[in-house]
Amino acid sequence: MKLTDLNTIKSVLSEVGAAPDKKFGQNFLISERVVAAIAENCGASAEDGILEIGPGLGTLSRELCGRYAKVVAVEIDGKMTDVLALTMKDADNFTVINQDIMKTDIKRLVSEQFGEMNVTVCANLPYYITSPVIMALLESDAGFDNVTVMIQKEVAARLTAKPGTPDYGAITPAVEYRAEVKRLFTVPAGCFYPAPKVDSAVIRMKIRKTPPVDPRDKELMFEIIHASFMMRRKTLSNAVSSVLGISRDTVCGALNDCGIDAAVRGEALSLYDFSRLSDAIKDRL
Ligand code: SAM
Repeated sequence: MKLTDLNTIKSVLSEVGAAPDKKFGQNFLISERVVAAIAENCGASAEDGILEIGPGLGTLSRELCGRYAKVVAVEIDGKMTDVLALTMKDADNFTVINQDIMKTDIKRLVSEQFGEMNVTVCANLPYYITSPVIMALLESDAGFDNVTVMIQKEVAARLTAKPGTPDYGAITPAVEYRAEVKRLFTVPAGCFYPAPKVDSAVIRMKIRKTPPVDPRDKELMFEIIHASFMMRRKTLSNAVSSVLGISRDTVCGALNDCGIDAAVRGEALSLYDFSRLSDAIKDRL
C-alpha cells in the first residue's frame, strides 16, 4: 500500500468513514521523498526509539518503523487510529496511543514505553498547536536526544532567528536554552493533501545536556524574557516594570551594570544578555 498516493489515501479514509479534519490540523504528506528525508535526518540511530506525534494515516510511521527499533505514536483522532489498524498491521515495532499530546504526561509515557532506550521525537506536527507542543516536549525532561519536527516555515524562522531581527521572539531564547536548533529543509505546500496555505520546514532540535547559560534564578530570567516580548514596542525597562512590577530604576540600573543601553528593547538581547540581566536585577531586588 503506497500511502503517499492520493487514491490510496482517499480509499483508506473512506474505509473508516473519515475525511481530512481541519480541526486536528490534518494535512497528510504525499511526497515519498520528503517522508524519507524526515525519517533519515531525525538524528536517531537504528537501535533507538521514536516518539511520533500525530501519525495520521501512518505514512511517516511506516518509514520510521523500517529504520528504527521501536515507534510509539500519540494520535488524538480515533478515526486515524482505525486507519492505523489497517495501514500498520504488519509493523510489529509500532504502538499507537489514542490521546491528546497536550494532555499527556510525556516523561511518564517515554519511560513506560521506552525504558532505557535512547529516544528521538520525529513528527509532522499539527499546525494549530506547534509552539505549545514544542515547548511541552522541550520542558518535559523526558531525556530526548533530538526533537525533529515539520512546522510552518514562519515558526521555523522564529526558532532560528537572531536577536534584533523581526522574527526573534520569546520562544527563540526559550528554545535556545534547551536545544541547538538546525533548520534542515523547506517543504512546499504541494507536498500535502489537502495543501495547507503556507509552506513548511523541518527543523532538528538537538537537546542540550547542559544549558548555554546559568542564571542564578532561571524562573526570573524566563519571566523577564516573557515580559520583554509581551510589549514589543516598549523599551525593555518599561515592559519589565509594568509586567513584573519591578521598578524602572531597578531595571535601568541593572541594564547599566551589564553595559546595555537603558532604552534597549527586548528583541535586541541574546539569551546570554538575558541571563546577565536577570542576575543583575536579582542583585538589586
Ligand atoms: N503524520 C501524518 C503525515 O505526516 O501525513 C499526519 C500529520 S498531520 C499534519 C497532524 C496529525 O496530528 C493528524 O493525524 C492529527 O489528527 C494529529 N493531531 C492533531 N492534534 C493532536 C493532538 N493534540 N495530539 C495528538 N495528535 C494530534
